[in-house]
Amino acid sequence: MLVPIPPEASAGSATVADIRGVARPALAAFIESEIAQSKARPLAVLMVSVARPRQLESITRVSAWEQKLQQIDIRIARILRATDRYARLSEEKLCIVLPMLANGAQAVLAAARIAAALQEPANNETKDMSVRASVGIAIWPEHGADADELVRCADMAAHIAAEAGEDYHVIRPEDRVDLQRLDGDTEGQLLHAIRQNELLVHYQPQIDVRSGRCVGAEALLRWTATTGAALPTAMAIDIAEQAGLIGPLTFAVINTVLRDAVQFRRQGVDINLSINLSTKVLSDLEMPDIVQQAMETWDVRPDHLTFEITEGVMIGDIERSLVVLNRLRDMGLRLSIDDFGTGYSSLAYMKRFPVHELKIDQSFVANMLTSRGDRQIVQSVIDLSHNFALQVVAEGVENEETLEALKAMGCDLAQGFLFSRALAYGEFLEWITARRN
Ligand code: C2E
Ligand code: CA
Ligand code: CA
Repeated sequence: MLVPIPPEASAGSATVADIRGVARPALAAFIESEIAQSKARPLAVLMVSVARPRQLESITRVSAWEQKLQQIDIRIARILRATDRYARLSEEKLCIVLPMLANGAQAVLAAARIAAALQEPANNETKDMSVRASVGIAIWPEHGADADELVRCADMAAHIAAEAGEDYHVIRPEDRVDLQRLDGDTEGQLLHAIRQNELLVHYQPQIDVRSGRCVGAEALLRWTATTGAALPTAMAIDIAEQAGLIGPLTFAVINTVLRDAVQFRRQGVDINLSINLSTKVLSDLEMPDIVQQAMETWDVRPDHLTFEITEGVMIGDIERSLVVLNRLRDMGLRLSIDDFGTGYSSLAYMKRFPVHELKIDQSFVANMLTSRGDRQIVQSVIDLSHNFALQVVAEGVENEETLEALKAMGCDLAQGFLFSRALAYGEFLEWITARRN
């Protein structure tokens, strides 16, 4: 099957039809018929993956991005031969078919020209408005026997190019081992869900251990694919990261949480809301600006918002992440280290990172009543937090005994199935109202 196209992004727009574009269902048919007529001359499938310029990443810069997309179509059309065809698969992806080549090297040349053409800023633009393109290349008959295989290989190659920061990548036999993991279908649906605002955010209560009051909630993503399958959240995040969609996904979640924060406040529910951030998002220097814009849009103050990061941040681009985290802190947002104890934490890093909270990983909490070692770890993290004047949260609290033990150990907040699973906005309101009465 071809990588799916959200219907409104398909080749239906006039621009694409005008410049030799073909619609998605026609793409596979075109490849197959060209293969049939090729008389053994090679055919190449190029998958062009474009990253939205940082300047245009915010939700409010939609029309500028749309203009940019038209510009991309026009530039690509200028490079193609009359016999070539292409289809826009999504905002970030274009598939190009080059039939009847003299040799495979022609495809590489075309890929390099396309990447260079897209990166060139237009007359009235600054350099940071230019589009970064990564082109994946798969050639018939060498890399695949049919349209399906070629498109998937080209897609995989585009991912590899993007990850390596290269303009193009020709699929290699060793790359294809991973092909099974990448379900193009799921990826397209996820993109669609982000665009259509179909991602759901559920809220799991956080309880003050001493008072028993609900003082916060963690926002957790929930996504059901169009097949009806509710994807495990960790898997959806993984797919988003692999597909380069984690930025748009994160901003969609932030937007939803801020919108809900306004409603919570109106309903008299004055609690802290925590949002998970993938480590990848922290290397985006524009990220704090986007958060700032979203806060202004929804008129939400930063003091009741926490971003949860994991210790993975300590093995990425630390200096860059520090810039982003320091800015978020300076904006008045709270920062929390999630899954604490499972990663690469070291006391030296703890000193450098401007955090307000540690969350003890649920694996330690789950076994703390039976395992002496786990109990000692929980106690150490609680003591460590307090020595650094940080708040400490225990995750995965499933029974009263664990809660009692945490209370005796001086833990500040607890979160887990004992209180509630993550609830949809309306359910959460009912839950918290019932708990207060
Ligand atoms: P996490 O941040 O560690 O979230 C806690 C996970 O533990 C959630 O799984 C939650 O439903 C589950 N949980 C809560 N209480 C209990 C309990 O008492 N027992 C047990 N066994 N589990 C409990 P979920 O919702 O499936 O999320 C999985 C992971 O996906 C999260 O782990 C987080 O890393 C990630 N995630 C969720 N939403 C987002 C998001 O919006 N953005 C990003 N980047 N990651 C997210
Ligand atoms: Ca979390
Ligand atoms: Ca966690």
